[in-house]
Amino acid sequence: MSKQSHPAFHVLIPAAGTGTRTGSTMPKQYAAIGGKMVLRHTIEKFLSVQGLKSLRVIIDENYRELYNLAVEGLDLPEPVIGGQTRKESVANGLSAFAANEQDDLVLIHDAARPFIRVEQIENILGVMTNADAATLAAPVADTLIDTAYNRLDRDALRIVQTPQAFRIGSLRAAHEKFKSDDRFTDDAGLMAETGVEIALVEGSHENFKITSAGDMRMAEKLLGLATETRTGIGYDIHAFEDSPNGLIRIGGIDIPHPQKLKGHSDADVALHALTDALLGAIGEGDIGHLFPPSDMTWKNADSAIFLEEAGRRVALKGGKILHADITIICEAPKIGPHREEMETRIASILGLPGYRVSVKATTSEGLGFTGRREGIAAQALATVALPARD
Ligand code: MG
Repeated sequence: MSKQSHPAFHVLIPAAGTGTRTGSTMPKQYAAIGGKMVLRHTIEKFLSVQGLKSLRVIIDENYRELYNLAVEGLDLPEPVIGGQTRKESVANGLSAFAANEQDDLVLIHDAARPFIRVEQIENILGVMTNADAATLAAPVADTLIDTAYNRLDRDALRIVQTPQAFRIGSLRAAHEKFKSDDRFTDDAGLMAETGVEIALVEGSHENFKITSAGDMRMAEKLLGLATETRTGIGYDIHAFEDSPNGLIRIGGIDIPHPQKLKGHSDADVALHALTDALLGAIGEGDIGHLFPPSDMTWKNADSAIFLEEAGRRVALKGGKILHADITIICEAPKIGPHREEMETRIASILGLPGYRVSVKATTSEGLGFTGRREGIAAQALATVALPARD
């Protein structure tokens, strides 16, 4: 192995943010690109750099299950639990270091910057042989103006990125000093305020921070996304009985009707069919297997819980729901006037944009059990993109 030309170092990755502006139902660091979570992509870059002494991720405790999935098979120390803000989270991360590590180098890197290059990490570590603090900073390519159309000198400006490098003790001291000051969105900014000079190491545009749905699409392109499309089918029937409150629950909403559907849960036939379709697409059994009617927990349960769980399981597999199409088969009640409200409700349960959900209805021309108004049937087809497998 060649001798490394930079000092040994630790890494802290703040990943406690809950931003879901990417359009995903989960924080962006746990969204999958190219079949792997963003956080995992990021971690793997640092694991491949020589001289790494420790790598700790700072997480929101509520997402521990996703974290465990992201780091499966990696030998990492326990994650640190973050605070209310990124600054607090980093401060918590710094507290995890021992007294004899205060002179060691630490790199702070955003979880949502998976395109950091190993060479850039090595560059910033190299600079730290002589500097007190450093940050990756990218030149500005576009012409910059303020809102009054005054041109700004782009040559004098930089886009602040991560990683940022510090000695653990001095960054801790800076955090201590500015503990109740919320002006700072990055650690180098906070360090600069203490009078320390920040060395600028050239960053690149591909090291962008995934923030929006557009960033997610760009990330997928950069990784040469490898996904496969799967479909799942669902079918369900429930019989009518008298409705004590004059309402029937279908498609996640209550519609006025003298009869309701009979079942252990709220008997929402449309949501049951869709739940089964989603489970089918990812090969995870069926609704009765996950939520057994023998279990009293699910007595009169809101079927939104079942659908939400199916959506969560798709996400845990790194999948994305592309489309859900439901057909409700009955003579009454009339579904047409409630179709759009059902689509909106179902999309909201799954955290999807409305255009990814379709609800339709048909009668059976008076034939069969639905024609005799004995009950309602529903069919659903779910289309899901999953990380490609060989
Ligand atoms: Mg059912």
